[in-house]
Amino acid sequence: MELSNRQEQIIQIVKDNGPITGENIADHLSLTRATLRPDLAILTMAGFLDARPRVGYFFTGKTGSELLTEKLKKFKVKEYQSIPIVVEEDVSAYDAICTMFLEDVGTLFVTNEHGHLVGVLSRKDLLRASIGNQDLSSIPVHIIMTRMPNITICKPEDLLLDAAQKLIEKQIDGLPVVEPAENGLEVIGRLTKTNITKALVELGRDQHL
Ligand code: ADP
Repeated sequence: MELSNRQEQIIQIVKDNGPITGENIADHLSLTRATLRPDLAILTMAGFLDARPRVGYFFTGKTGSELLTEKLKKFKVKEYQSIPIVVEEDVSAYDAICTMFLEDVGTLFVTNEHGHLVGVLSRKDLLRASIGNQDLSSIPVHIIMTRMPNITICKPEDLLLDAAQKLIEKQIDGLPVVEPAENGLEVIGRLTKTNITKALVELGRDQHL
């Protein structure tokens, strides 16, 4: 985050004199305590300063990038996941292609008659099926999908950073977000590279509250 001149001055005063009360910081700058209140609130929320009752403000010693990393490590999958697009396993490859276009997604999750996750279908899986001279409307997706137990999953409470690591390691575009159900997994979300990009932009623009 960009600090104002005054905020930089406050940090320097606290570094040199901390622990120091808000009143004393205001004296150093010949300002009133009330004028400084928003700056002190910002510096405390951002993690540069900490305040203890009856002691005052002190410098946490954390650099901007340390604070950024701390924030990033708190992001959870559930805060960034999208709605999952799901098809049943006996749907045709042709219909799966239509669903991908209509829903504007690159990855479909495949479920069985109980609504449990059985596979993942990517664009390339469908392209591969299209290369042969086969009738796409007669090929069910369960023949061409990647199937359980080889599906990489994540949970809503997982760290976004861990999910991102899985995307890189497995070289895939998305993960199903799942919750345990009786005898299987229920798909409750979709976490893709786009969600990770959004989180990165929020972090960089300091919009994450
Ligand atoms: P694309 O094929 O469009 O490049 P991906 O890189 O995501 O998309 O998919 C590559 C392969 O990995 C496909 O065969 C797909 O079925 C499989 N795949 C995609 N996501 C997963 C996942 N979460 N777990 C296991 N396999 C996956």
